[in-house]
Amino acid sequence: MKKLSLNPHNLMFSILMGVIALIINFYPIPFFANVQFILGNTLTIVVAILCGPWYALVTSLLASTSLMLTWDSYHVFFIFGLEALFLGFCRRKDIYALYGNIIFWLVIGMPIFYLMAKLFFDMPTEHLPFVTIKQAINSLIYTSIASILVLMVPKLWMFETKIKDKQRRSLSKQMTYFVTLMITLSLLFSTLYFNYISLDKQQNLIVKNQQESVFHLSNAGEQYIDNHQKVIENAARYFSIASGSPQEIQPLLSNLHQNYPGFISMLITDNQARIIAASPTIRLNDAKDNNVIVNDRDYFIESFYNQRVFVSSVFLGRGFGNDAIVAISAPYYDKQNTAQPSGIIEGSLDLKYFSAIDYDFNQQKNQSIILTDETNNIIYASEKLNLNVMSPLKYGIHNGLYLTQLPLMNITETESRIPEYIYAQKQLKNGWNIYIIEPFSPLLQLAEKQMQASFFMLLGALFISFFISNRISQLLTIPLEMVANQFGHLSQHDLNNQVLDESSPKEVYSLYQRLLISKQQLITQQLELEETVVNRTKELEKANQKLKELVDKDPLTQLFNRRFAEHKFQEVREFCLRSEQAITVAILDLDFFKAVNDSYGHLAGDECLRQVSAQLSQHFKRDIDIIARYGGEEFILILPMSNALNIEHHLNEFKIKLSQMPINTPDRTEAFDITVSIGAITANANFDARLDKWIKIADDNLYQAKAQGRNRTIVTIINPEVES
Ligand code: GH3
Ligand code: MG
Ligand code: MG
Repeated sequence: MKKLSLNPHNLMFSILMGVIALIINFYPIPFFANVQFILGNTLTIVVAILCGPWYALVTSLLASTSLMLTWDSYHVFFIFGLEALFLGFCRRKDIYALYGNIIFWLVIGMPIFYLMAKLFFDMPTEHLPFVTIKQAINSLIYTSIASILVLMVPKLWMFETKIKDKQRRSLSKQMTYFVTLMITLSLLFSTLYFNYISLDKQQNLIVKNQQESVFHLSNAGEQYIDNHQKVIENAARYFSIASGSPQEIQPLLSNLHQNYPGFISMLITDNQARIIAASPTIRLNDAKDNNVIVNDRDYFIESFYNQRVFVSSVFLGRGFGNDAIVAISAPYYDKQNTAQPSGIIEGSLDLKYFSAIDYDFNQQKNQSIILTDETNNIIYASEKLNLNVMSPLKYGIHNGLYLTQLPLMNITETESRIPEYIYAQKQLKNGWNIYIIEPFSPLLQLAEKQMQASFFMLLGALFISFFISNRISQLLTIPLEMVANQFGHLSQHDLNNQVLDESSPKEVYSLYQRLLISKQQLITQQLELEETVVNRTKELEKANQKLKELVDKDPLTQLFNRRFAEHKFQEVREFCLRSEQAITVAILDLDFFKAVNDSYGHLAGDECLRQVSAQLSQHFKRDIDIIARYGGEEFILILPMSNALNIEHHLNEFKIKLSQMPINTPDRTEAFDITVSIGAITANANFDARLDKWIKIADDNLYQAKAQGRNRTIVTIINPEVES
């Protein structure tokens, strides 16, 4: 495994980012219900992009600490740590963070988060896709922000070089990413904003609807009770005036009941609480048979003894069926005795009335009704709530866990943290409470649907913007690449091909034109340069030749110099060795040359030397002969392949020729003669490798020639074989 090398600078950075992220994550942005957006993880992604996976993991662990505290789940460390590592590795593979993030949440993040939420979060199953998708969207948000931060904050770029194997990205890729990023972020914010607004509206609508409903219903309810209370009051007054025998009262009561079907039953008692009239009459017979006395009933006690109109709490009817009823009762009097009631009249209010209203509500608004009396017992509840009438209403009110301005209550599971109903409540004048409730889940489902739609829209928009921006950037990069290809090498031929078509951008085309011109200039300049180089090379060669001549030649006579002769001797000797040829080395010294200088001047002396040299070159004219000025008025001849028999004659010929040749002074006014003394040696090439040896013998001969009176040639022939 590769050893991890820790960069303290990066570590410090990741810890600092982690601490800031931790603080930011303590302040999530509320969206709807229990949905919040966290932004601290932005910094985790920044670290992932800049420093790689392991530093991102450090930041992520710190950032997740606050999430762990608010969400009460240790699993955030796992999912967000995984995300940080994944994005860090994506970065190493040179995959852009946003692309990496989409891949992560689609393939790994959402399935794992879903499972995690299912196993560890206290949440109904149907809410899981919602929170999962929300998490993915949340992650897209902070990844986009992080990517843009890295792009926009130049100071952060100093980290970028630290990423190993970082490749240079193409303009097309960069542009595509940038555009995709911008579109993603703007789309994210706008969809979320509109989702938020729409949910907000929806909530306001619900609240308004409920309040309207509760208002109408309470009004209707109050009116209903009021009306029926008045009916009883009026009836009591009426019976006080028109008191008579039960036989007279019964039809009156039946008639009254017929007009007010809101009463399930009605009855009239005497002052002994005995039922003397009842409606419907069938009940009366039952009551009479059983000799029902209602003196224990609240409605009798309150009306008879306290002499008031009374509206009871809800109770179970007895004798007249077993319905939950509310009794309204009032005392009636005898004309003669208004101090003591003669009995009471009572009507049992039909609570089914509410179900009629309820039905309307359900049809329209999915609202349910709960009506409780002043003791909090349920008088009426919509059937689907499955609540027992007359039992106390138990509920839990939510406070703050779900971020919504809606009042929320739970009826079924009062302790649960997941809200069941949105409610509105109003107290009636008589102390009853009316609740309008509707389930919370449709709103949540709406939010879910919106979130899902946003997510898929976002994915779609991402792909579309990816392809479009890719195409747009290609409008620039493809022509640029073509231009680059054409100008990659210099060739006249390419210039005639027009590589850009009409669709290429104007700027690129003008760049292309300019490049064409400069390329043309470059080619011209190159040709000129080549020509100059050829000329210079020729000049240089000439100069070199001159230099060589200067080195090897004697400037006065244009003969080779002594150095050249000595050097050349070895070559000549080796050649002659192979072919077993003789070599002659001769030293020539002009006689009384000093006298020439003295008599005719130094220039004449020089001229004399030149003419002697010319004569030498003319006489010893084989290509292989080496004629050199040996120094002063002395010359050396190296004559390979010499014929020993002939050489002395050949040298003498020169000596004679020279002596007969008049030498002109430079101004051609005078002429004089010059003679030469020659000492020479002719020997086989293998005689000696050192020229000195040869010269020594030649010099000795020269000396002899001078001594013997000058204008002489003395030759020593070394090899006897050559002699014979
Ligand atoms: P000999 O050889 O017959 O004994 O007599 P010589 O006068 O030639 O003898 P010596 O060697 O004493 O004199 C040579 C003279 O050649 C001396 C010098 O002034 C002259 N000399 C040498 N080199 C040059 C040259 O390049 N130009 C001219 N004008 N004179 C030169
Ligand atoms: Mg001399
Ligand atoms: Mg001399």
